[in-house]
Amino acid sequence: AANAYSAANPESQALHERARQVMPGGNTRTVLYYDPFPLVMVSGSGCRLEDADGHTYVDFLGEFTAGLYGHSDPLIAEAIGKAVANGINLGSHGRQEAAFAEAIKERYPSMELLRFTNSGTEANMLALALAKHATGRGKVMVFEGAYHGGTLTFPASEVPVNLPHDYVFSRFNEIEATREAIRDTGTDLACVIVEPMMGAGGCIPGDPAFLRMLSEETKAAGALLVFDEVMTSRLSPGGLQSELEIRPDLTTLGKYIGGGMSFGAFGGRADVMSHFDPSKAGSLPHAGTFNNNALTMAAGLAGLTGRFTPAAARELNERGDLLRRRINAVMSEAGAGIVVSGIGSLMNIHPVETEPRQPADLAAADQRMRDLFFFDLLEDGFYIARRGLMALSLPIGDAECDALVEAVSRRAPRWAALGG
Ligand code: PMP
Repeated sequence: AANAYSAANPESQALHERARQVMPGGNTRTVLYYDPFPLVMVSGSGCRLEDADGHTYVDFLGEFTAGLYGHSDPLIAEAIGKAVANGINLGSHGRQEAAFAEAIKERYPSMELLRFTNSGTEANMLALALAKHATGRGKVMVFEGAYHGGTLTFPASEVPVNLPHDYVFSRFNEIEATREAIRDTGTDLACVIVEPMMGAGGCIPGDPAFLRMLSEETKAAGALLVFDEVMTSRLSPGGLQSELEIRPDLTTLGKYIGGGMSFGAFGGRADVMSHFDPSKAGSLPHAGTFNNNALTMAAGLAGLTGRFTPAAARELNERGDLLRRRINAVMSEAGAGIVVSGIGSLMNIHPVETEPRQPADLAAADQRMRDLFFFDLLEDGFYIARRGLMALSLPIGDAECDALVEAVSRRAPRWAALGG
């Protein structure tokens, strides 16, 4: 299979060899690396991609969830074009940043005040720094296998490049052990940071009772609850927090909300966020040349108000729920020992028998099976993440979903034979 892949993709291979001369492993974004070499995409339109060797794909990866609007949505392209014609960044506040912040706050009422960053990683870094400052405490609770950005990653197997916080580890969806750990940490606990559905951890939904417990116990401990909704913000018009009816103290956002431009945001309780108010003596500084960059502000505002309306959000997530149910039905009929986990428009295909409840449940999954789905689907013209993540974008319609289900149905008996 690796030979066929190399033979079919000589231009991607040549571009990778060239990149290796100037970047370690030819890479500046580790998630994109895979053996024997990653494909180089050269153009995209709507939900279609074309690679350097002229193959075309339906884009079921959606830029790891940041590509919700599809490629070159005309409304967003127009907004960016206007910002470019207007002089790009002007070294000052602009008209659009407050309007964009208002549009976000309307969807996420828990974000009474918010600030922008360049990435989800930065949003989380700042949220943690703020939680420690606001509580005067030092410990940060995280969950095993969680991913909150390039400097906040907690896998069992990789070597993390983490910020040196004083972490307390617990296990996702384990209610009693986590409650106990929060109580034991007591007045040392600054905050708990959690995704209401683990995204990079494998699209593992948080049990609502677990998440409610976090809300109650952090409140009782005088600590802050930080919801990382960088990925899950797309799962309803107001993110998973609105579905769950949980009001976190702080929320972090990223990905598609910037309209496909570099983006992050963090916000929450006004009394906590006010520590960043520069008109107050002793406030926390938060700098960043591109925090309010004109392209992100314009693209994000256009997308959130003009495209990802509440009705569009519901429709996209219903489409995802249906697709996941259909693929799971095909897999179970074929006896493939494969499940697709997730909520709405975010899903992950796993070579395991039952839905994971925490990342440790995926430890025994056979990486070769994941590779097989990936390369088989590529051959059929579908682009997903090597690790099995899929994120629907708005241009994906019934025809694309039907075609994917058809390809999976055709492949499932062979996967069942190889996986068993
Ligand atoms: N938090 C979560 C839950 C994420 O999935 C990601 C990105 N995959 C981040 C934070 C970091 O965002 P960024 O890549 O924009 O730094």
